[in-house]
Amino acid sequence: MKQRIEDLDWKNLGFVYRDLPYRYEAKYKDGQWQEGKLVEASTLTLSEGAEILHYGQEIFEGLKAYRRKDGKINLFRPEQNAHRFTLSAERLAMPPFPEEQFVAAVKQVVLANQEFVPPYDSGATLYLRPFMVGTSNVLGVQAANEYTFRIFAVPVGAYIKGLNPAAYIVSDYDRAAYAGTGQAKTAGNYASSLLPSVEAHQKGYADCLYLDPREHKYIDEFGGANFFGITPEGQFVTPKSPSILISITKKSLLELAKKQGLNPVERQITLAEAFGMKEAGAMGTAAVISPVGSITYQGQKHVIYSEKETGPITTKLYQELVDIQYGNEEGPEGWVQEVSE
Ligand SMILES: *Cc1c(COP(=O)(O)O)cnc(C)c1O
Repeated sequence: MKQRIEDLDWKNLGFVYRDLPYRYEAKYKDGQWQEGKLVEASTLTLSEGAEILHYGQEIFEGLKAYRRKDGKINLFRPEQNAHRFTLSAERLAMPPFPEEQFVAAVKQVVLANQEFVPPYDSGATLYLRPFMVGTSNVLGVQAANEYTFRIFAVPVGAYIKGLNPAAYIVSDYDRAAYAGTGQAKTAGNYASSLLPSVEAHQKGYADCLYLDPREHKYIDEFGGANFFGITPEGQFVTPKSPSILISITKKSLLELAKKQGLNPVERQITLAEAFGMKEAGAMGTAAVISPVGSITYQGQKHVIYSEKETGPITTKLYQELVDIQYGNEEGPEGWVQEVSE
């Protein structure tokens, strides 16, 4: 059933699927992308032999549209999502979707559903979910030769309300293999993280923290967010690893950290070193930054900064990025794009 705007409570949206009026769809056939367009139907029709149902050719993205104070709508670095989508497509042997068209389609979907972009003061946003699946029939293991690309939109609340420190547990499982698909935003990585995250939730943790899959010594990332720490010397550090997804929030915070004199660096971070961080956080579009209150490993809890309060450096980085996203403050050139007709 279509979401009715009058049924929405902007302050309590949560992070759940809703069927909005319009989405964008383009199909790939005979070696090329067909012209895409806005469609109303939220359903996809697939053959039982469709590649995605058996061998998992799926990639996706996640980005947000922000309602500014003056009522206009911002996108934050959408060309970065378009480019990462290309990299994910290449890793999954899928045809890249033209990056300019990706950004144009995102804007089309925002405009078509613009009454669903939440008001500025609600703290909520319109989340965009571009994705692509292999649709042609396969039985032997092979890449599809037909694909569907879609972008749907959903109004979402602040993922984790405000800056509340969360408890994490180091997982015994791996999220992605060393030279696997960790750098691609693909369903398979999430499929393998479901059981670890269910188990973590059952034990009362917000999510898992994964170690590097080769030595289980260095921090990789959380289930759906990158890790950062502030060293005792006050340096912003974030893991360098071939099995993590390069977060656009991370890339952006690296730049802001540089401006704030935090001398940021991407390098390997051992678990032992992470326990001694002054502050730490999880970085991703959904929550921007979710502060790490504690990390539990082999039954022992290591508190980072505080389980109740967020550290000053984390708070400042968070506030600066959010202000740029909403257009309250000017960010680096090109970070924010206004969506207009
Ligand atoms: C999407 C995602 C992130 C966060 O990336 P952003 O571009 O900042 O949203 C981090 N890790 C994984 C595994 C992800 O899928």
